[in-house]
Amino acid sequence: MDKTEYVMEAFGVSRRSAELVAEAEKAISDKFKELEEISEINQLKVMRAFSDNRVSERHFMPTTGYGYDDDGRDTLDKIYAQVFGAEDALVRHNWVNGSHTLATMLYGVLRPGDTLLAITGKPYDTLEEVIGIAGKEGNGSLKDFGINYEQIDLVDGEVDYNSVKRSLQSKKIRAVMIQRSKGYGWRPTYSAEKIGEIVSFVKGISPETICMVDNCYGEFADIKEPTDFGADLIAGSLIKNPGGGIAPTGGYIAGRRDLIELCSYRMTCVGIGRECGATLGFNRQAYQGLFMAPHTVLQAMKAATLCASVFSILGYETDPKPNDGRHDIIQSVKFGDKDKMIAFIQGIQKGAPVDSFVVPEPWDMPGYQDQVIMAAGAFVQGSSIELSADAPLREPYIAYMQGGLTYESAKLGITVAVDNILKIVQA
Ligand SMILES: *Cc1c(COP(=O)(O)O)cnc(C)c1O
Repeated sequence: MDKTEYVMEAFGVSRRSAELVAEAEKAISDKFKELEEISEINQLKVMRAFSDNRVSERHFMPTTGYGYDDDGRDTLDKIYAQVFGAEDALVRHNWVNGSHTLATMLYGVLRPGDTLLAITGKPYDTLEEVIGIAGKEGNGSLKDFGINYEQIDLVDGEVDYNSVKRSLQSKKIRAVMIQRSKGYGWRPTYSAEKIGEIVSFVKGISPETICMVDNCYGEFADIKEPTDFGADLIAGSLIKNPGGGIAPTGGYIAGRRDLIELCSYRMTCVGIGRECGATLGFNRQAYQGLFMAPHTVLQAMKAATLCASVFSILGYETDPKPNDGRHDIIQSVKFGDKDKMIAFIQGIQKGAPVDSFVVPEPWDMPGYQDQVIMAAGAFVQGSSIELSADAPLREPYIAYMQGGLTYESAKLGITVAVDNILKIVQA
């Protein structure tokens, strides 16, 4: 039995669907080579950093209590800094998610009277309450602490350079915020290099302005990170790319040494900073996760490219397109039809190793205007470096797929998703 027959028999997929996926896979073989090259360079960077820092068994030992002299923790900080081309970094399990890590970066650096300027449009949803443009007054948002916020929206997916220039010239802007990934929006994701150009533009007008980057979903998608190109601070989640599907929780911030120190005072408290923080056995998975990350990100990038290729052949608009440059792991597909989008999400669920027997349904998720349907079945709850897909039930019915610890398992999810849709089309 060959693999086409196996997927047909084991998962009830039609020959047509299995063959369509095989055809879509052939069409992107050159793209795969490009992605493999990026992954290999990133793997070499990680290997070099492990070697330079003499990683050994002792770095994996758990510490308790204050966690003074946790060499595993302090060495991991150095390794992240080296890999990301930064002066310094903080990597901690205590950060509960990406939002918490990003908030620490903002609170760490901004002071009363400062102005934060978002120059790639509205930041990620969860940061709205942190900034104070949503939520209750008095909760302790940046706004409550007298930090001003301004925003410049993208114009046709591009930074509105004229408005940014005007704003930087008209008053003192303490920090700008740049979001690398499109997240769950229909806009381009910026390459690390492009972010470098944006940073240079800002610094050319206002050298003192701190450039902070929400780096979520972007790590290891390019051979460089925004910090390699002069960004002052980047932050992200370990249950996305840099955790490699192994880290069970946590976040990181990397960048300029003086700013990392300020972030460390917000991470714990002023005066203590990074000196304390027991790691309780987290280190082994954090190291192994970073070691795996270039390869795991490659699996996810391949899965995203396959998804784009399959649905392009079927005539759907995808972002990015199969052969476009890719700077994060997210793939969006515009279905223009509610039932097809639901069929897609339900198919992706079949590629999950956990809860693959479950059929996702749309639900009223707190904090969202429209109903949302999600496919997820991960070893780490909510991990989106593992195969997952989300879609709000609104026109034009766009689904966002990301992750996949192995290309093969993600390919199964995509194959079942295609099969579900073809069944609707034929009915
Ligand atoms: C995932 C993500 C975040 C943080 O989300 P968490 O769920 O808190 O980890 C922030 N910004 C972007 C662009 C993201 O994709």
